[in-house]
Amino acid sequence: MIKLSRESIINLIRYLEAMGFERLPLDIPVTACKASGERSATCLLKERQLKRLKKEIGDCRLCRLSEKRTNIVFGEGNPEAALMFIGEGPGEEEDLQARPFVGRAGQLLTRLITKMGFKREDVYIANIVKCRPPNNRRPREDEIRACLPFLKRQIEIISPTVIMTLGDVATRALLGDIGNISRVRGKVYPYDSIRVVPTFHPSYLLRNPNAKWLTWSDAQVALRLIGR
Ligand code: SF4
Repeated sequence: MIKLSRESIINLIRYLEAMGFERLPLDIPVTACKASGERSATCLLKERQLKRLKKEIGDCRLCRLSEKRTNIVFGEGNPEAALMFIGEGPGEEEDLQARPFVGRAGQLLTRLITKMGFKREDVYIANIVKCRPPNNRRPREDEIRACLPFLKRQIEIISPTVIMTLGDVATRALLGDIGNISRVRGKVYPYDSIRVVPTFHPSYLLRNPNAKWLTWSDAQVALRLIGR
């Protein structure tokens, strides 16, 4: 059973009143906020909005990636995250576990997150497409077009300070054709009021370990923007 401070309850009631609610929603889910240690009313509301979006996506069949997937990988993390990571799409392990970045590349991402001074539960992790492209091929334009609105709504709800896009596909999908990842990494781009710092995809770093220090320097740009 979650225990909210008096101040959090008052903030929650004020927020709900401003949103036009006439009674308290007593079934607010708490899992992700609780895991990240976030107990604010806005975190609980964002978590609720994310859960609603997930329900809306349901058993989505909007593109052909639905045909071979085992699970939809919605994304996970702190609904109030200041930092969000966006990758390309789920791989085999992610498809089986319905969780983003849990394979070998995911372990590398988790190490980067830890080195940045966060726990995985502190940040939010998602992908451009939510279903695994067969044989880990790149998602196609029409698949990205079909799935991107879901991610955009996730971003809108979470409203992070900084997004780190991981690799070419994620960077292009969010920012348009701004150039090759090697050229744009570590620079800061606007996405609405959010700042985006592209960097290499962890899978690339597994193949090119010498580029890890470049990713670390990109991570430091992101940390400065967050004020850490
Ligand atoms: S990739 Fe996205 S749009 Fe395509 S089926 Fe999966 S959830 Fe739907």
